[in-house]
Amino acid sequence: MKDVIYDVIIIGAGPGGMTAAIYTSRANLKTLILERGVPGGQLQNTAEIENFPSYSHISGPELAQNIFEHSLKFGAEYEQANVKSIAIEGDIKAVYTESGVYKSRSIIISTGTKYKKLNIPGEEEFSGRGVSWCAVCDGAFFKDKELVVVGGGDSAVEESVFLTRFAKKVTVLHRRDQFRAQPILIDRMLKNEKIEVMYNTIVNEIRGENKVSTVLLENVKTGETKEFQADGIFEYIGMDPVSEFVKTLKITDEEGWIITDNRMKTAIKGIFAVGDIRKNAVRQVVAATGDGCIAALEAQYYVENLQEKGNDLSYV
Ligand code: NAP
Repeated sequence: MKDVIYDVIIIGAGPGGMTAAIYTSRANLKTLILERGVPGGQLQNTAEIENFPSYSHISGPELAQNIFEHSLKFGAEYEQANVKSIAIEGDIKAVYTESGVYKSRSIIISTGTKYKKLNIPGEEEFSGRGVSWCAVCDGAFFKDKELVVVGGGDSAVEESVFLTRFAKKVTVLHRRDQFRAQPILIDRMLKNEKIEVMYNTIVNEIRGENKVSTVLLENVKTGETKEFQADGIFEYIGMDPVSEFVKTLKITDEEGWIITDNRMKTAIKGIFAVGDIRKNAVRQVVAATGDGCIAALEAQYYVENLQEKGNDLSYV
């Protein structure tokens, strides 16, 4: 248990959380960022960013590092910790982690998302031995290999193009006959000579000896199945929220997305949420940073009024 009481604890160092830290620390609020992994959130898994203002091209990890350094510039503290739960103790919120308890007047949640899994035979067994959810992290292991990418959204389409830097061939498997990704990304993918697309196709099993060697495919229109050679499979079938630690607070919908208003306020006073973890969020880096700014200003208002009025808050 730490004696210090923070003004703001930011849980999760995604772009939204780190932007909030810039604002709150620059407003002289005592700010702590808690992150269980590496700062950057999904930026760490994104090869290229070309729609963040002022960068027409930057790698995700590089942008993450830039925002991280910026977030600490005005005095915010940073600690690596895995948050397990939050308890409300009057005006103070206690954040329970595996390494201790931290106390704060307000909290900004920016824990983002984790990759969905296909939940098919072979997936768990070959995880890290050909099954991956991160082209930036694992793509280089597949030089001159044949890969499959599953999904039809921005991630699948964008990362399949990135994987052609290493792989001899990339086959994109989509369960429908239309991609949901942005047209500019689809266009790039379709023009890439190393990429082939199989529509109406799902993966039913991942097979191999010590590592992936084939995937069992099914055409959902014809019912036809076939074994398809692949040295690796990258799954980009969407995201699940990282919000188990707030389950008891009842601030999420049934799927675990945190419900906020357009000022980033949750149903609990003094607790805000930003970025991809929010229900119906626009899942873009720029949107997350905008959320971070709004939440920080709201947290500042909340903390300053809390100190003036104690429990007698009329703030809504
Ligand atoms: P997504 O948009 O939810 O797309 C998931 C894709 O996986 C869909 O095409 C979906 O098919 C398919 N899928 C879902 N479950 C499946 C299953 N069990 N088997 C096979 N296919 C399955 O996820 P995302 O691409 O990871 O993107 C997440 C969010 O981040 C989106 O809002 C996206 O716009 C944003 N993002 C933006 C950028 C960018 O701006 N450059 C880059 C990456 C992500 P259906 O289409 O049939 O539903």
